Amino acid sequence: MPGDGSRVCLGLGSNLGEKQRNLQCAVNAMGAFATLRAVSSLYRTAPVGYLQQDWFLNAAVMVETALAPVELLRALLEVEQRMGRVRDIRNGPRLIDLDILLWEGLQVDDEDLQVPHPRLVERHFVLAPLAEIVPEWIHPGTGRTIAAHLQALGVAEGVERLALGAWLEDQPAPRMAR
Ligand code: ADP
Ligand code: MG
Repeated sequence: MPGDGSRVCLGLGSNLGEKQRNLQCAVNAMGAFATLRAVSSLYRTAPVGYLQQDWFLNAAVMVETALAPVELLRALLEVEQRMGRVRDIRNGPRLIDLDILLWEGLQVDDEDLQVPHPRLVERHFVLAPLAEIVPEWIHPGTGRTIAAHLQALGVAEGVERLALGAWLEDQPAPRMAR
């Protein structure tokens, strides 16, 4: 159903349990409120900020959704919760993290939601997968393309692209616990 919603880029991350399955499970769950349009490769990335934790798997997807921004945020937080995410340490270990990165034609600056994601342009682990799917999208705050932002960050340290073609279909994703 093309053209019946907004195009939105989402960032996904996991560093607990079966990381790839967690990402698959989250993408499947999004099917309830968004249509998948593009999927990046998987990236194996070193933790940032809080360092005493396992490496992450990160990816980015582009979806189309009829939801409003706050509704999409609420839906994503609900997926995180249903999958069993517990929030304790800031930037600490997480089963699944779902962030709204970019919203085509829209900026949001609310207390609970900022789009584009405020730390997007400084995070290699976000920009690398994002630049695979929307290199030419312009960051509305800077006027620069995503590809240019990635290039500006220079050499990737601790961000490794995994050669896992169709990782979403790579193994059967589990059903989500209720
Ligand atoms: P982080 O993703 O920064 O590591 P959390 O996943 O714990 O941290 O998110 C904390 C809060 O960030 C969410 O409850 C949400 O209200 C807020 N937030 C603000 N902007 C965004 C965004 N663009 N995408 C996702 N969450 C956001
Ligand atoms: Mg988050």
